[in-house]
Amino acid sequence: MIIFLLPESYHLHFSPHLWMLRSARTAQLTSLTLRRTSLRRALPLRLCSTYTIAPKPMANVPATQKVAIVASEGSGVHIKDHPVKLPSQLAPGECLIKLHCTGVCHTDLHAATGDWPVKPMTPLIGGHEGVGDIVAIGEGTINSPVQVGQRVGVKWIAYSCLNCEQCRKGYEQTCANVKLSGYTVDGTFQQYLVSYTNCVTPIPDNLESAAAASILCAGVTVYRALKYSETGAGDWVVLPGAGGGLGHLAVQYAKYMGRRVIAIDGGEEKRKLCLALGADHWIDYTTTKDIVGEIKKVTNGGAHAAVVTTASPSGYTQAIDYLRQNGHLMAVGLPSTATLDASIFFTVFKSITIHGSYVGNRQDAVEAIEIAASGAVKCHYQTKKLKDIEQVYDDMAKGKIAGRIVLDVNDV
Ligand SMILES: [Zn+2]
Ligand SMILES: [Zn+2]
Repeated sequence: MIIFLLPESYHLHFSPHLWMLRSARTAQLTSLTLRRTSLRRALPLRLCSTYTIAPKPMANVPATQKVAIVASEGSGVHIKDHPVKLPSQLAPGECLIKLHCTGVCHTDLHAATGDWPVKPMTPLIGGHEGVGDIVAIGEGTINSPVQVGQRVGVKWIAYSCLNCEQCRKGYEQTCANVKLSGYTVDGTFQQYLVSYTNCVTPIPDNLESAAAASILCAGVTVYRALKYSETGAGDWVVLPGAGGGLGHLAVQYAKYMGRRVIAIDGGEEKRKLCLALGADHWIDYTTTKDIVGEIKKVTNGGAHAAVVTTASPSGYTQAIDYLRQNGHLMAVGLPSTATLDASIFFTVFKSITIHGSYVGNRQDAVEAIEIAASGAVKCHYQTKKLKDIEQVYDDMAKGKIAGRIVLDVNDV
């Protein structure tokens, strides 16, 4: 089924094979339907989810809640009682969200330990992959794109002003006035979160909250990197770390977008996962001696793009070698101190583009979520409780976590 957007607020549905087999007039009579819809919901082709708004939203907001908080840099994370901002205290443009769950991202660990060059605020409630219901919107909010009773997601980019040069160009992630969930404003490791009506992402009915959580960060990040990699259907994309949290989503988005995927990771378990997700070729970096040579052979001259999520500088250096002319190196991971050591000669000689790709804007988030809701992308996650967060950080620091962790914030 293909959906076209028509100017008169109609969606036109038709079946393309019927269109080819029958005359246009017959096709119009037999297989066309018109459905009134809203152009505000203009979504990517082939995707058409529904979004339900609860008829009787919850009104009882408690005065206090449980949160996971880092009191000061290096003090560790602890579960505490914390005040809830009441609906009457919300500023215009703010909304209060009763959270169901939140993903835990490597970024949260960096925020808790304060090891990035840009320091987080303290005390800090971390987290930036939250899903919940809007229970209140600040009085005086004008033209809110979301409503009370609607299920929404909260991302790393909690707020962008939409008016600075970066925002006007669609680069909301690099907004001059950006607010970052769980870094410069309180994040999703709590039960009642204040966020911003213009920046939350509506969650479609057919996507469970826990399944949506990690799409809001890991999914959006890899989806945007692939979207801007200037590759087309059939082009080769290399995904180092393909069996990891970001990587396993990248494999699925790349396949959804019609790319051919070379998955690089280590071990039998990750090999099975990557191939099951549709990777066209597997390279085990622990046993392959000449990774560059193998990629060049498989792709007949070099890959069109690499989406590098790993912290290791060698992942980047290698990419310059295995990309074909005019290839794109999409740098996605945010290691604390690693530097990019690329051959200037070959970057220029092969016309390689090195492109830093940082999370995504609101449209990227809607598209990434819609694709997940269609069933084409599934996050592999385990569910734990908010009070397990200390252990989760510990496991994360030791590299023990496979896939993603989603915390039930109401089970403390
Ligand atoms: Zn994240
Ligand atoms: Zn801005």
